[in-house]
Amino acid sequence: MNSNIKLGKIMGIPIGIHASWFLIFFLITWSLATGYLPQEYPKISSSINLIVAVITSVLFFGSVLFHELGHSAVALRNQIPVKGITLFIFGGVAQIGREPSTPGAEFRIAIAGPLASLFLAGLFGGLYLLDQQIPYLSAPSLYLMRINLILALFNMIPGFPLDGGRVLRAIVWKLSGNFVRATQIASASGQVVAFGFIALGIFSVFSGQLMNGLWLAFIGWFLQNAAASTAYQVNMQERLRGSTVAQAMSRDCTQVPGLMTLNQIVQERVLSQGQHCFFVTDFSGAKIGVLTLQDITRVPQLQWRYTAAQTVMTPLHRLVTVEPDMELIAALKKMDDENLSEVSVADQYGLVGMLSRDNVVRYLKLRSHLKM
Ligand SMILES: [Zn+2]
Repeated sequence: MNSNIKLGKIMGIPIGIHASWFLIFFLITWSLATGYLPQEYPKISSSINLIVAVITSVLFFGSVLFHELGHSAVALRNQIPVKGITLFIFGGVAQIGREPSTPGAEFRIAIAGPLASLFLAGLFGGLYLLDQQIPYLSAPSLYLMRINLILALFNMIPGFPLDGGRVLRAIVWKLSGNFVRATQIASASGQVVAFGFIALGIFSVFSGQLMNGLWLAFIGWFLQNAAASTAYQVNMQERLRGSTVAQAMSRDCTQVPGLMTLNQIVQERVLSQGQHCFFVTDFSGAKIGVLTLQDITRVPQLQWRYTAAQTVMTPLHRLVTVEPDMELIAALKKMDDENLSEVSVADQYGLVGMLSRDNVVRYLKLRSHLKM
């Protein structure tokens, strides 16, 4: 989830908004301004209700942000970086830089969000006790108390990726000592919860609650995707454990002189010999960069005749490299962090090959074919 709009930083964490957030902000403000507030304050003009609705809605999302800051503060305290917090259509998400290394840390980070929401529920509840008689204040405080209570309880449903699912994972992890097993159980329960939401949503649609039903089904669908992709990732990590870059990388990159044109490379090397990565060399035969099919396709085909390999290659000093004996999981993580679909492989003597996501998929297929 990437932010489209950046709001600034809190505790050094970039805070942003995803475009989908505007829809939910509008829906909530609208339901407050036309439903909840006129019901509570029938005598107040609709323009004032609208202003109160906007402020309440902003505080609603301030509460969501506070919940995510709860997770983030504890993550930072456990030396885990937080890349950012994004508000989006289903609430908020804190991008925690990596998985916690102990069940204790996982538990504390997960529980911090619901506790932050409970704290706000108490705060708005207390405020409501004080401002019961004051128009403009009482209904919003009551509403925000309820919302924060719902945020705390909803998130404690024990299905990954909800906070309750993470708490469940921490507990199973602690009891079994097995992180992978714990993640599998938590994401399986997450998928059960997700399908529960979808079923409940469909049931609501057929019993006449169209909007609520659709909403529940969408949340279920979102949770299902997240739980399934976590299960897939952990499964893949488990299968890749112990494998190194050298086992999956491709070694069939050949050398091309820097002045060779793209047209020549495509005709003589790619089409007729099926090669797809090249080490570009200078006059002395030393490697000066890497050229991939991706680099070639970035140049319009009409210019291939006049474009030399060395002008579009990635030069050595800009290459992101991994070592042959690096764990595959670590190499994939590095590709993720750098947002790359392939990296060069280099040992102490220089470039030896390339590693792409396709290589990893092929390697996994080969292993499963060999029943390894
Ligand atoms: Zn949370």
